[in-house]
Amino acid sequence: MFRTLQFTLPIFFAASVFAAAPLECLIIDGQNNHKWQETTPILKKQLEEGGLFACDVVTSPPAKGDFSGFNPDFAKYPVVVSNYNGEPWPQAVMDNFEKFVRNGGGFVSYHAADNAFPEWKAFNQMIALGGWGGRDEKSGPMARFRDGRLVVEAKPGKGGHHGQRHEYQIATRDAQHPIMKGMPRLWMHAKDELYDSMRGPAENMHVLGTALSKTEFGGTGEHEPLLFTVKYGNGRVFHTMLGHDMEAMNCTGFMVTLRRGTEWAATGKVKQKLLRDLPSADRVATR
Ligand code: ZN
Repeated sequence: MFRTLQFTLPIFFAASVFAAAPLECLIIDGQNNHKWQETTPILKKQLEEGGLFACDVVTSPPAKGDFSGFNPDFAKYPVVVSNYNGEPWPQAVMDNFEKFVRNGGGFVSYHAADNAFPEWKAFNQMIALGGWGGRDEKSGPMARFRDGRLVVEAKPGKGGHHGQRHEYQIATRDAQHPIMKGMPRLWMHAKDELYDSMRGPAENMHVLGTALSKTEFGGTGEHEPLLFTVKYGNGRVFHTMLGHDMEAMNCTGFMVTLRRGTEWAATGKVKQKLLRDLPSADRVATR
C-alpha cells in the first residue's frame, strides 16, 4: 500500500503540472445603474465554465462610501473584467489600473462599464468609445462602420444612446481574428440594448462585430461597433457593449465572445473550443 502511494503520488502531481491551470481573472463591480448583483455571478459562471478561468470578484464600496480600503491588486491577474459603472476611484487606484493595462495587462469592458469615468482620459483611450455621463463632442468623435471600414464623425451631440430592446443581427467584421474565428458571418443576438452614438478617442480600435441600429427601434440607421479590441500600451482590451441583462447574456454568441475576448485579453491567444449551439443569421441561440 505504502509503496503504491509512493509510486502514484508523483504521477498525480506531474499530471497536475501539465494540465492547464485556470487563468486568474478579476471581476470588478459594486456600483452600476444595472443589476450588477445579478450579472456578476453570470459573468463568473460563464468564464469559469470548462475550467478556463478562475475568477475573483472585488466589490467597491457603494456610492459616497469610504474608498480608503479599496485598492485591488490588478497586477496579480492577467485580466480584469469591469462590471463597474459608478463614481471615480481614488487617484492611486486609477493610476494603478492604467499602469496595469499599459504594462501588458488584459482588460475587458462589459456593457455599461463603458459608461463610467467620462473624465478619465486614459480609461477612455482604453475603451476607445464610451457613452452617457455627460459625454459629448468634447469626448471625441462617434465611430461607425460604413462601406466595410470604421469612419469617425466629429459632429456635435450627446455620446451614448440606445433605442428599445430587441433581437438584432450582429455582423462579424473580422472572421480571422481569434475571438471571432468560426463564428457565423451574421448571427442573431438575443433581445438586448443596442448602444449607438458612442464617443471617445476611437484610437487603436479593431472592429470585430457591428449591428445595424434600425430607426424603427429608435436607432441611428448606422452600423454601430459593438465588439472590438483596443491596443493600449502593451495591454490588450476587449470591449463588448452586449449583455444588458440575463436574457441578453444567455445568448451563446454573447458567451462565446465574452469568454474568447477575455482569454485573448489575458494571453493574446484563443485556445478554447467554440460552442456548438451558435446563433444563425435569423435564429437566436440561448442556454
Ligand atoms: Zn444596459
